[in-house]
Amino acid sequence: MKLGLFDLRPLLASTLQWEAMSGLEDLERRVHACEACALVKKRTNAVPGEGSPTADLMFVGEGPGFYEDRDGRPFVGPAGRFLEELLASIGLTRSDVYITNMVKCRPPNNRDPLPGEIEACRPFLDEQMETISPKVIVTLGRYSLEKFFPGELISRAHGSPRPWMNMTLYPIYHPAAALHNPKLRPTIMDDFSRLPSLVESATGRDTGPAAVTEETRQLDLFE
Ligand code: SF4
Repeated sequence: MKLGLFDLRPLLASTLQWEAMSGLEDLERRVHACEACALVKKRTNAVPGEGSPTADLMFVGEGPGFYEDRDGRPFVGPAGRFLEELLASIGLTRSDVYITNMVKCRPPNNRDPLPGEIEACRPFLDEQMETISPKVIVTLGRYSLEKFFPGELISRAHGSPRPWMNMTLYPIYHPAAALHNPKLRPTIMDDFSRLPSLVESATGRDTGPAAVTEETRQLDLFE
């Protein structure tokens, strides 16, 4: 008996999820072993990222801080608690999304990552984006925005979605900015509230002919 396309969807979804998960596990091993820039010297733990391997929504911050370096997990300090609060405000938890940073090791004393460090770490982020294939990438703060749109100011770019490759890029302030400047808190919350509709429209866009072709190609593997 030949199964129809609809019957195979759960199998296809779990296969893609397994492939993405094993790809990310391999990447995590390489990040933990990486010595490609000077940040390796002072790190306690590398922080590859965490979350759903097939997330529609991916968050890209700047770099690990004190708590992240200690625990080896992204966004676990005060800024992370605010990020969790923001996720809860749109009905999501950390496990629904994927969270990572531009650089995977902590810059000493929380200084800004240097251009050479960002460049050295860039292949890991590129691989994460390719593996997870999110519909919407949320850049947190100016360094993350700089990767995609060099020279743009976060104060002007925040809250304005724009197409990038086959995804939607959505810049917002870094949650830590609201801890330093509470006046930014309502701005970040307002920008965050638009995320569900952005994901919904991006997901709808992805059900076009290209997505069907990819789905059909994957299903051929089972015939
Ligand atoms: Fe490697 Fe990135 Fe850590 Fe530098 S920051 S050592 S490139 S994992």
